[in-house]
Amino acid sequence: MAKASTDRKVDIAPDVYNCNSAHTFTYSFILRNRGKRGQWTFREEFRTRCESSPSSWSFEMIFHKVEANGKVFFPATLTRTDSAPNVVDVLVNPQIYDDFGNIFTSSWVLKGEGVRGGDVLEKALEGYFSNIEEGFCFILELRVQIFIFVTSCHSPSTV
Ligand SMILES: [Zn+2]
Repeated sequence: MAKASTDRKVDIAPDVYNCNSAHTFTYSFILRNRGKRGQWTFREEFRTRCESSPSSWSFEMIFHKVEANGKVFFPATLTRTDSAPNVVDVLVNPQIYDDFGNIFTSSWVLKGEGVRGGDVLEKALEGYFSNIEEGFCFILELRVQIFIFVTSCHSPSTV
């Protein structure tokens, strides 16, 4: 059973898509009042139902409060939770938009190559939102889409 994220008021829409080259997991949600509320933790567990080389995962991203100067610090941890020795590649790419539809970052990724069961990948998403006026960052909500791609586990003929 998947561990839930820490605030059940946040409605997370999960989706899975399998294709010739990847297993894609997406999670979409909106975080409100990010300038006032404390941290919120996104935490989901998922697994590929790959016939060739299945793998199980846990992904966590801590959304710390956006500071008044627009500073953002969102540390992320991706764990491969099975114990199989087969190797796969993985890529996490969050798309985070502010109230005005500006994307916070589109280039940040958490990437692992040759990931085995038990491996842990950690990386923090850091930076500044640019919509600051008179020293105050106007962010009421963050629209988040997290894309996770598990690849190199099957040939194009099998999923
Ligand atoms: Zn696969």
